[in-house]
Amino acid sequence: MTWPRRPHTRRFQSTPSRYNRRSTPLVIRGRHPRARHSVEPVTADTLSLDDPYTVPTAYWHRLPDGRVQCDVCPRACKLHEGQRGLCFVRGRVDDRVVLASYGRSSGFCVDPIEKKPLNHFLPGSSVLSFGTAGCNLACRFCQNWDISKSREIDTLSAAASPELLAVTAGRLGCRSVAFTYNDPVIFMEYAMDVADACRERGIGAVAVSAGYMNPGPRAEFYRHMDAANIDLKAFTETFYSKITFSKLSVVLETLEHLRDTDVWFEITTLLIPDHNDSDAEIAAECAWLAEHLGPDVPLHFTAFHPDFKMRDVPRTPPATLSRARRIAREHGLRYVYTGNVHDPAGQTTTCPGCDEPVIVRDWYAIDDYRLTADGRCATCGTSLPGRFDGPVGGWGPRRLGIRLADPGDAPRSGQ
Ligand code: SF4
Repeated sequence: MTWPRRPHTRRFQSTPSRYNRRSTPLVIRGRHPRARHSVEPVTADTLSLDDPYTVPTAYWHRLPDGRVQCDVCPRACKLHEGQRGLCFVRGRVDDRVVLASYGRSSGFCVDPIEKKPLNHFLPGSSVLSFGTAGCNLACRFCQNWDISKSREIDTLSAAASPELLAVTAGRLGCRSVAFTYNDPVIFMEYAMDVADACRERGIGAVAVSAGYMNPGPRAEFYRHMDAANIDLKAFTETFYSKITFSKLSVVLETLEHLRDTDVWFEITTLLIPDHNDSDAEIAAECAWLAEHLGPDVPLHFTAFHPDFKMRDVPRTPPATLSRARRIAREHGLRYVYTGNVHDPAGQTTTCPGCDEPVIVRDWYAIDDYRLTADGRCATCGTSLPGRFDGPVGGWGPRRLGIRLADPGDAPRSGQ
């Protein structure tokens, strides 16, 4: 693959976003060696390679009718000059497909890793989380729609080079960086560069994705990732087609691909009343997961809240989550969790060897931890599946907004 040119990095500063208004943001001061200019808002009019946050991409090809087709995801957007794809952040300029959001973010937060959710990846640790704008799906129930459906990229008020993000994560004591809030598939070039910069510093990279991606870019993307949480939004093609405007089969291919890699991954299904929460559909999903991925893949059933184009649907009752968890366990899945509710019983990890609770959680808080540094049960010594490295982290359930600023005295890459 030919890498896109790196953007001319501008001054890094940010304004509070939806994600860092909730608490007093911590200001991290950073400087890029080429920092000179203040950040200007990116708008629909600025699709140009003169924009420092717009970079060429590799996964596209030319069609006989003169259009070019983006090959990152099965949307297969066919573009005339100046057109953007469905995700809005990729488009055609100067006769090639570009990414217009390299180095831009909708804001940064430090979260508990359990919030991604990942329950078997460095438990208790903090993760520097961020997203960009746009999405390659069109879910009617989107819970982050103000970012994922942004058409003006005006949510991209924060900017950071991969190196600055990695250095910032290290300074904050984060064990990983997560691409979340919107799907990193559409900004894969930026995400992979951030992941590489993080790996150089011993910091992991986490993709939170719907898994809607073509095989070639998928293989390349996940070579750069250490962990992933894949949204399995339902288990019927009808739901995927009508509610998300995508295909279930592609997501299942992504899960099977991940099974054959070293990437640690967990799965999340948001249960929406009367849309994907029947016993039969949950059973079909769990049977497929057990057969194709094995009993050790963690599965999270999370609660829906009315949002975006599904405001007429009620919240998911906690009893639905408990019912789904029971069905999953009946199908042999060992690590099944409920989410977005207080449910210590549904959020506790139990040792498969002695049946003792080894990680007791309440929402994102860890109340008790009985694993050794390498992830074995302290009682019977059985190894738990996942990535465990040292004592449990002490971040807790906090969320901390981060602002990146540019006073000129921040560390350069490698410091
Ligand atoms: S990544 Fe974006 S531009 Fe490319 S095919 Fe998917 S939706 Fe279309």
